[in-house]
Amino acid sequence: MSKAIARLMVGFRKFREKYFQENMEHSVYQKLASGQTPKTMLIGCSDSRVDPAILTGAEPGDLFVVRNVANLVPPCEPSRVGFHGTSSALEFAVSALKVENIIVLGHRQCGGIRALMRGPGEAAMSFIGQWMTIAEDAREAVLQEIPEADEETQCRMAEMESLKVSIRNLKTFPFVQEAIAAKQLTLFAIYFDLEQGQLWELDEASQMFRRLEI
Ligand SMILES: [Zn+2]
Repeated sequence: MSKAIARLMVGFRKFREKYFQENMEHSVYQKLASGQTPKTMLIGCSDSRVDPAILTGAEPGDLFVVRNVANLVPPCEPSRVGFHGTSSALEFAVSALKVENIIVLGHRQCGGIRALMRGPGEAAMSFIGQWMTIAEDAREAVLQEIPEADEETQCRMAEMESLKVSIRNLKTFPFVQEAIAAKQLTLFAIYFDLEQGQLWELDEASQMFRRLEI
């Protein structure tokens, strides 16, 4: 067994000690045995530095999570064409679990966004190249706004702009629209600056990000 896998096994042993052996009858998993009722869905990036449960201290059962490259939400498209992993998770979270919140969690140094900003090039036909076209509006906004800025500055802005795209796309799903209209669902776009250890939140009205004082 590789060292990396052995380390994960040690981690699982600690997890089991915490959740399955101490005080078994009142354990978290005893309560979750009949099903999950998370109040929040989180759409995050696959990046290993941005684990939603570690960042928020969430317990099992708290967060319904989907992670993909660059934490993108695609627009609502016909279900018969292609495979829709993120849209499926979204449908289940909103229609079946009836979550009250959806957080789209972006982050600094996102590799997917860097690929987006470098342009399709040879990778246009790759899975990532195709996937990142979801955020094309973010790339265009950056190139229009700060065409002369260095790559890091452009990427940072694109990371934030792509969150706006995802929030817009969330609202193209009929079940999301209905839940918002019924005041049963709130959307959040949060940006994690992993260099500074800070969170920023998108203010819907001004379309500006403001730093959360936590
Ligand atoms: Zn990322």
